Amino acid sequence: MTEFPQVMINLDYLEQNVRTVMGRCADAGVSVAGVVKGATGIAECIEVFAKGGATQIASSRLEQLETAKKLDTGLPLMLIRIPMMSEAADAVRLADISLNSEITVLRELDRQAGIAGKRHGVILMADLGDLREGFWDRTELIDAAVEVETGLQNLELKGVGTNLGCYGAIQPTTEKLDELVSIAEQVEKAIGRNLEIISGGATSSYMRILDGNLPEKINHLRIGEQILNAYDLEKYYGYDLSDMHSDVFTLRAEVVEVKTKPTHPVGEVGVDAFGRRLTYEDRGIRRRAIVAVGKADIGDSDNIFPADGGIEVLGGSSDHTILDVEDAEREIKPGDILDFAVNYGAVLYLTGSANVKIRFHKSVK
Ligand SMILES: *Cc1c(COP(=O)(O)O)cnc(C)c1O
Repeated sequence: MTEFPQVMINLDYLEQNVRTVMGRCADAGVSVAGVVKGATGIAECIEVFAKGGATQIASSRLEQLETAKKLDTGLPLMLIRIPMMSEAADAVRLADISLNSEITVLRELDRQAGIAGKRHGVILMADLGDLREGFWDRTELIDAAVEVETGLQNLELKGVGTNLGCYGAIQPTTEKLDELVSIAEQVEKAIGRNLEIISGGATSSYMRILDGNLPEKINHLRIGEQILNAYDLEKYYGYDLSDMHSDVFTLRAEVVEVKTKPTHPVGEVGVDAFGRRLTYEDRGIRRRAIVAVGKADIGDSDNIFPADGGIEVLGGSSDHTILDVEDAEREIKPGDILDFAVNYGAVLYLTGSANVKIRFHKSVK
């Protein structure tokens, strides 16, 4: 079989990213769950997260935690998607800690932990406005905390947490995170002891580490993108990430057609392969190339960025990506391999696609 399309992973760069993030967080008194779901929990990546100093290994998917468990890194495993009722037994078997927002699921986790003869750690999630997971009603959260603490003997209430900047794009301002601190204090008052973990969010909350204004009591973050890609905070919020590698992952794809064609489709325009009505800019007749990689592998055509100068991604379908190569700095021909930088979305699809070869690059030290 061909080696392409291929995702090349630089494990040295990944390790340096893990160490940089862990170091900065440690300086702020914050421990970090290394979130591996963005790279589909590839074993080699999990090992690097562990080696680089993550406090826990975290994923939304139990299959990936199973991979982590087999690696025997010695680190606690954290399930960061609130568990399905139907996976409670596996959640208890594979994860040491899970994030939760439903009392009925917590009761089922307790029952399964009892059957397995284990204690399972739980973090109760508070929704502070992003409107994805979490208790909305404070009293309901505190009642759940008290029930876990006093009634669910096989669960250990580890702490509280929140998630921001995902569905509702709500920013983790100090005010929002102070709300989490206040919830933590209310829970501590209700159960009469301190909580071990106050988990203040994901990569977006890392902005507070970079700014040095994370509320004191927040002692934990769950970070994926900033370690795997180190792209979003620079691109969308203007942070200087020059001490990070944003090229841990590189897509390498093969050119299968190079022709001079019109830029505007010819005929009556309807919907594309995904039922969308797009507009096409007419730039006259230009040189274009097709690479053998598509939305099935990268999610969306604008998740990838050509390494070569003068090449532009025009769009694509499930298995084809179309490039404008009219102004390419070198001649492009069928059989050529083109490199692309990739964002989080592309890495998610590439590492999960059965058709993409995963290869590792070790840079010479
Ligand atoms: C995916 C996820 C994270 C990690 O998010 P990044 O933006 O990749 O750092 C953290 N917490 C939860 C609950 C998640 O689902």
